[in-house]
Amino acid sequence: MNKKKAVFLDRDGTIVVHEPYLSFPEQLKLLPNAAEGIRLFKESGYLVIVITNQSGIARGFFDEERLTLIHKKLMSMLKDEGIEIDDIYYCPHHTEGIIETYKVDCDCRKPKPKMLLNAAKQHDIDLSQSLMIGDSEVDMLAGKNAGCTCVFIKDVCNKDSGISPIGTDYIVKDLLEASRLFTQGKIKNLSDR
Ligand SMILES: [Mg+2]
Ligand SMILES: [Zn+2]
Repeated sequence: MNKKKAVFLDRDGTIVVHEPYLSFPEQLKLLPNAAEGIRLFKESGYLVIVITNQSGIARGFFDEERLTLIHKKLMSMLKDEGIEIDDIYYCPHHTEGIIETYKVDCDCRKPKPKMLLNAAKQHDIDLSQSLMIGDSEVDMLAGKNAGCTCVFIKDVCNKDSGISPIGTDYIVKDLLEASRLFTQGKIKNLSDR
């Protein structure tokens, strides 16, 4: 059996509008073209897995129970668009947190690759055929550290967005552009690059 390919997606600023320390399900707003992009990836046989740093837990802004509700809501919003994502991994830690249990220098917080490596193990994923897509440098570095191809979502409103972070392989404006790039024959085989 061949291993599967996956697209790992950052959450805030990639799938949903970035709200600092988003703490309530009601704050979730899908970004334009995000659902459509995820659909294209799914239709092309990619597993879709969310990889998100949620230090708001360590910082005491919300707890894991709340985050579970937020992610349930996210999944139901996507389900309304006819999309099922395959999994969500999050890191609740931060060294400057105030909640003792989570105040650790963990090995899962992006740019470390542990969440991607765990997902690869649990879902039988070939990381070298997989993508990490996100809107910040830690996403690109986590992807690189895991051996994935990294796609940077450039905030079009950001004036100094001419620079792309270290580790970036491709720059796109949103998830739909990313999905077209990889599923509609523009790049047939990642290993042929
Ligand atoms: Mg982000
Ligand atoms: Zn962590």
